[in-house]
Amino acid sequence: MQSLLGLDAPEIASALGVPAFRARQIYDAVYRQHEVDVTRITTLPKQLRESLQLGLPSVDQQYQSTDGTVRYLLKLSDSKTVETVMMPEEGRDTICISSQVGCPVDCKFCLTALMGLERNLTAGEIVGQVLHVAAAHGLDPRDRQLNVVMMGQGEPLLNLANVLKATRLLVDPAGIGMSERRITVSTSGIIPRIVELGAAEIRPKLAISLNASNEEQRQQLMPITRKWHLKDLIATCRDYPLRAWEKLTFEYVLLNGVNDSDADARRVVRLLANLNAKVNLIALNPGPGIPFMTPAPERVASFQGIVRQAMPCFLRKPRGLDIYAACGQLKRMTSDELVQVR
Ligand code: SAH
Ligand code: SF4
Repeated sequence: MQSLLGLDAPEIASALGVPAFRARQIYDAVYRQHEVDVTRITTLPKQLRESLQLGLPSVDQQYQSTDGTVRYLLKLSDSKTVETVMMPEEGRDTICISSQVGCPVDCKFCLTALMGLERNLTAGEIVGQVLHVAAAHGLDPRDRQLNVVMMGQGEPLLNLANVLKATRLLVDPAGIGMSERRITVSTSGIIPRIVELGAAEIRPKLAISLNASNEEQRQQLMPITRKWHLKDLIATCRDYPLRAWEKLTFEYVLLNGVNDSDADARRVVRLLANLNAKVNLIALNPGPGIPFMTPAPERVASFQGIVRQAMPCFLRKPRGLDIYAACGQLKRMTSDELVQVR
């Protein structure tokens, strides 16, 4: 049976062989009214209602952090599981969603890399993560307080068509109705896909994982740089068509004694000079099999102090460290393993 999630109204019409007005009723119930039980769409004839399948992921496991973060292992239709993280905060909530099961990019500091790529997520599976968390936490995606970041498992730009389709579904005012400004996609720097993203009419904000201050260092930490050079990445950023309200975000994972010196900070400033940019620093979140250490808070402060003189520079608070929910920790760690590694 065809799942509804991920389909727009014309696709619903052709998948089910129903007239356009019926497809719009279904679209409205699923995306605007967040009806998770399709048999309750009472505007539809009973027979049609009972033949529908929504395709929302189910919860396989969930882990609650002492800081309020919840990490979900969501089960997909083929029984594969993927991670979604809900981070409540005073005045704002953030849902971190995955774009692939695992990740094919081999960053040396990231636990997800150790999984390799299992498969791309469909647009429905990407949207389904947001709808699941919204339903589970009583959140309204139209609310200005809710943000979605595509920073979970996977390299979103290697699944760009589905990421863009999911974005269109998330922002459609007749459906889920989020603002484009509240959705961010993060990439390791797949240059041609960044160009393609920039050309899309409806697209999330762009964040780029910089993580190094020069070409050689970046090649060691992020082998993908051997194919997509740092120099070209920065040139692509210079040409990127930012909207009036938008800045480029650069993420930078600080690794003790590797890329966290004052000289590195000064090189980052030079690299990003003339870009309309801000920097988000992330002190390494450690994990088993990751051969790096977290820098001391004073080192992080010194790095931030230098970058902040040139552009906005924030330190990202780790969320859900105790349940393996923080950046770079998403590797479907289960309770048994959590006990072992703590
Ligand atoms: N694949 C995309 C998005 C997911 S990763 C990307 O790489 O951008 C989200 C962020 O977590 C990236 O900026 C990445 O550099 C960072 N990250 C990865 N491993 C980390 C770790 N162990 N500690 C802290 N941040 C990490
Ligand atoms: Fe993939 Fe991002 Fe992890 Fe790199 S940091 S391995 S691109 S998820």
